Amino acid sequence: MIRKLAILGATGDLTARYLLPALAALHCAGELGDDFQLVAVGREDWTDETFRKWVEAQLERHATKLPAKVKRTVAATSRYQRADVTDPSSMTAVVHGPEPLAAYLALPPSVFAGAVQALHRAGTAPGSIVALEKPFGENLDEAIELNRRLSSLYPEQAIFRVDHFLAMTSVQNILATRLANRVLEPIWNSAHISRVDIVWDETLGLEGRAGYYDGVGALKDVLQNHLLQLLCLVAMEPPISLGDCDLSDRKVDVLRSIRPLRLEEAAHWTSRARYTGGQIGGQAVPAYAEEDGVEPERRTETFAEVQLELDSPRWTGTIFRLRTGKALGRDQKEVALHFRPVPHLAFAHHGKAQPNVLRFGLEPESVVLELTGTGPRTGTLAPLTLGADFAAAELPAYAQLLLDILTSNSTLSIRADEAEESWRVVTPILDAWSKNLVPLQEYAAGSDGPPPLPS
Ligand code: NDP
Repeated sequence: MIRKLAILGATGDLTARYLLPALAALHCAGELGDDFQLVAVGREDWTDETFRKWVEAQLERHATKLPAKVKRTVAATSRYQRADVTDPSSMTAVVHGPEPLAAYLALPPSVFAGAVQALHRAGTAPGSIVALEKPFGENLDEAIELNRRLSSLYPEQAIFRVDHFLAMTSVQNILATRLANRVLEPIWNSAHISRVDIVWDETLGLEGRAGYYDGVGALKDVLQNHLLQLLCLVAMEPPISLGDCDLSDRKVDVLRSIRPLRLEEAAHWTSRARYTGGQIGGQAVPAYAEEDGVEPERRTETFAEVQLELDSPRWTGTIFRLRTGKALGRDQKEVALHFRPVPHLAFAHHGKAQPNVLRFGLEPESVVLELTGTGPRTGTLAPLTLGADFAAAELPAYAQLLLDILTSNSTLSIRADEAEESWRVVTPILDAWSKNLVPLQEYAAGSDGPPPLPS
């Protein structure tokens, strides 16, 4: 196990909100030995002491349930290094020593290539891992160029492209449920499933992150990476193992089978929108265009919906609907498989059989199977719902990811070709939107969002 973690960009939002609580969870679970050390790299002129105080304050805010002792341990096992991460000479003090390290790039994507180059020049020990946050480039060409530069410096096994959705237990549960249950495999195809909805609707608005979000938007922030990964897990052929190659090979097959969108079809298959002012949970929410730091003329979408079809023996004839939005009226985060109706219903005059739906709730975690059962009188029908209870996850998603990185387990890493194929899928959509072939609709904050695309 790697015993030294360097977080590059350690004074940023991701570190505060996710990485430090993840480290605290790993300490709490006894996963990090006494010799574990965190090297925090940032541009602030801080001492070890300033950083440690900041760590404790962030954990107080973002890891409320963990014991104070654990929070103090995270702070105490850290040291702070002021450095420009793109400067090899200042990175020498970070990588120094014969032991491998894990370098986690919690940096703006524009700095990724320079930081990896500097780490390499500074001389990382064999066995070191470089973990990169999303987005992997901001378009297909950038992703290809970034991958080219990474592969000229490190082997693919030393690169970990992070998508934290893959480490969520609710997402892992999709894999387990479909691959470990004989009853599902024969019906996991277009003969039985008419539509798959992959939805990440948030009530959260911008949360002060205009600097990042306004240059990105819903399609690139969530749909291009997280939702396409979910699509891959639902649609892939069963892999031979969950080893990194087997899983990535099957995911790439799915991405390559997605029928490319033709520009003239874009308005039929995609929609985009931006929220106007409204109310969420009794609180007034300003229009996106009026939020601090937003440039309204960029016309950044806060909602994206895309319908995709797959040209593959298993899935031709099934619609995959991917949708995500901010400042919506309710949190709805799920993968829902809609089954076709039974070919003949003997109960024709005594009620309607709802098509079955298998819903995987992503946050909070749930699995619900919507069936049709008997109604209050003999020969009638009524909805019947089967639910499941879950044990609480042992580790939050980012803690699981850090553990995988520190143990050099790349099962959950996004492989270079996956990252590129995902960009290939959305490139025609980005083209159509930039040419204004799809209108930018509006929806009130707190509403259900724009009307769904017709199936
Ligand atoms: P922030 O802007 O909050 O943090 C970036 C950090 O990188 C800052 O500490 C910044 O320092 C530092 N930095 C930038 N350039 C350099 C440099 N040359 N040398 C040293 N430090 C540098 O961004 P986030 O933490 O929000 O995001 C980081 C990454 O994580 C991004 O790739 C983002 O897409 C991804 N991500 C973020 C999520 C989140 O919720 N925040 C969720 C999922 C992914 P300074 O303040 O001095 O500029």
